[in-house]
Amino acid sequence: MDAVERAAALREHAEHTSSCTKCALAAGRTQVVFGSGNPSADLMFVGEAPGFHEDQQGVPFVGQAGKLLDKLLAGIGLTRADVFVANVLKCRPPGNRDPQPEEISACEPHLFRQIELIEPKLVATLGNFATKLLSGKPAGITRVHGHEQEVTLGTRTVSLYPIYHPAAALYTPSMLKVLEEDFARIPALLDRAQAPVPTAEPEPIAAPEPEPVQLGLF
Ligand code: URA
Repeated sequence: MDAVERAAALREHAEHTSSCTKCALAAGRTQVVFGSGNPSADLMFVGEAPGFHEDQQGVPFVGQAGKLLDKLLAGIGLTRADVFVANVLKCRPPGNRDPQPEEISACEPHLFRQIELIEPKLVATLGNFATKLLSGKPAGITRVHGHEQEVTLGTRTVSLYPIYHPAAALYTPSMLKVLEEDFARIPALLDRAQAPVPTAEPEPIAAPEPEPVQLGLF
């Protein structure tokens, strides 16, 4: 798919998602917060769920956590236009409570389809919910942050990079420091993920065995 086709396919997916009623959150939302950014991004971020401001504006990470995300991105020379940002849940849970298992199950096809269309090289999961969902493992963010892992999503292998959620780091300086350190590794991980997979050395073509000369028959 070229960039134009990818953008159109993602727009169509957003349109489809905008009327979703697969879980109870549909009743309380202002709008679905699909995600935003570059449809052909090599780097994608997956957060948790929209909060008050995201629900109002229809864009992920526009509150305080979003400002920190912007700052961290600027620190590695990127802007929101270079990456794609989405969430595990596309609708705001009431009072910003944690996503419930049935909401995650109902919403995950939207996220998986986004990843399938965008084909990012590196997916940075922000916090526990995105990390557990996309890694398919129960290990929490405190244990796995900063450790990239290969995961198969659909038919593609993607590099998953769990990091702390910016909202958690906002008021905890020690966590912010770790988040900054983990973030600083993103350019190198992207370079590695973008490098063409080295092809194996071609096997030398063996010279055909000479036909045995049958001597002494005549
Ligand atoms: N805003 C979002 O869009 N997602 C989060 O996970 C937190 C804040």
